[in-house]
Amino acid sequence: MFSPRLRNIGESIFARMTALANKHNAVNLSQGFPDFSVSGTLIDLIHRHMQAGANQYAPMPGLPALRNAISEKIRDVYGREYNPDTSVTITAGATQAIFTAINSIISAGDEVIVFEPAYDSYIPSILIAGGIPVPVSLNQHNFTIDWEAVESAVTSKTKAIVLNSPHNPCGTVFTTEDIEHLRRICSENDIYIISDEVYEHMVFDGGRHHSIAEYEDLAAKAFVISSFGKTYHATGWKVGYAAAPPELTKEFRKVHQFVTFSVHTPTQAAYAEFMQHDRSYNTLSGFYQEKRDYLNSFFAGSPLKFTPAEGTYFQIFDYSAVSDEHDLEFSERLTREAGVAVIPLSPFFSKDPDLKFIRVCFAKRDEVIKEGAERLLRYIHKDLTKDKES
Ligand code: PMP
Ligand code: GLN
Repeated sequence: MFSPRLRNIGESIFARMTALANKHNAVNLSQGFPDFSVSGTLIDLIHRHMQAGANQYAPMPGLPALRNAISEKIRDVYGREYNPDTSVTITAGATQAIFTAINSIISAGDEVIVFEPAYDSYIPSILIAGGIPVPVSLNQHNFTIDWEAVESAVTSKTKAIVLNSPHNPCGTVFTTEDIEHLRRICSENDIYIISDEVYEHMVFDGGRHHSIAEYEDLAAKAFVISSFGKTYHATGWKVGYAAAPPELTKEFRKVHQFVTFSVHTPTQAAYAEFMQHDRSYNTLSGFYQEKRDYLNSFFAGSPLKFTPAEGTYFQIFDYSAVSDEHDLEFSERLTREAGVAVIPLSPFFSKDPDLKFIRVCFAKRDEVIKEGAERLLRYIHKDLTKDKES
């Protein structure tokens, strides 16, 4: 018999929509990955480190030079000191960090609060650990957090809460009020935090990312997780990290050593060297804000309604004025017939919410955004006209 833990889990929506996009030669605005190039310096550095012999196993927690660089960066940006030896671990992307963090603290019967829509790896990671996911829906009109619902979801079995700000897929960002609610709940209950901050450097309109690392009380109970994939346009390299207090890191590394043991050595060496001087993450918000505004400029006044994303490289559109179809069918039809692949929101929920939203990725070259937007608008216009005529 196979393990029943993931019996209801199918192929990821990102893999499914990208495959469909490729099959229909559609503009792929579905799976989140940038289509512009990685820094040439970074590529040269990997090559140089490979040639210099950095080709065998890295130390289990990660190369010391990279752990130092991360520790310094977190101190500079968020003002918290994480000892590189005892509190920073390099992982194969944020996905592995999330999986490892959950599996290091959750055991059978423990409840874990997740906000829905939820990034696709959270619930399976909880289930594999034998835990019980407790989904709390975000408010469905503006995707903010209903803290009263969170309070009602906390029980004596609640062991952890998974946070994600900036939020995929909603594009929302924690406010200071959110942090205060969280602090109160965590001070009254003994709860660990798994904070997925992979979009930490993509916050728009003068807003600010509130890292859990900034708050001493929260950081004391938290795994703060990020990924170089997003920050350096290199999602395929799969390097990320978890920063956590020593007692949590100790448990984390027990699992980490048997999930992957260690991560690609030359890439770690290259990031470590690159991070000595690179501060490009300071310009990433501006870069992506321009992309968001460019995408949205096509849809102003169109039947696809939107509130501009506050962060991430995703924009949500409400298509309820265009179609009554289920979001999965609508997204597949757009891919096949309009030639544009997008992501439906229902796979981010454990129960089908019957919402009419799609997620569009704008981490693309301007000509790709333009082509995708124009195809969508042409198709929707044709479709609406056809409906009116029939
Ligand atoms: N968390 C969120 C919210 C993401 O969007 C992603 C990836 N797109 C990840 C985690 C996984 O990051 P990685 O590719 O570094 O595993
Ligand atoms: N995080 C990416 C997204 O949201 C996809 C990553 C993946 O395909 N697993 O689109």
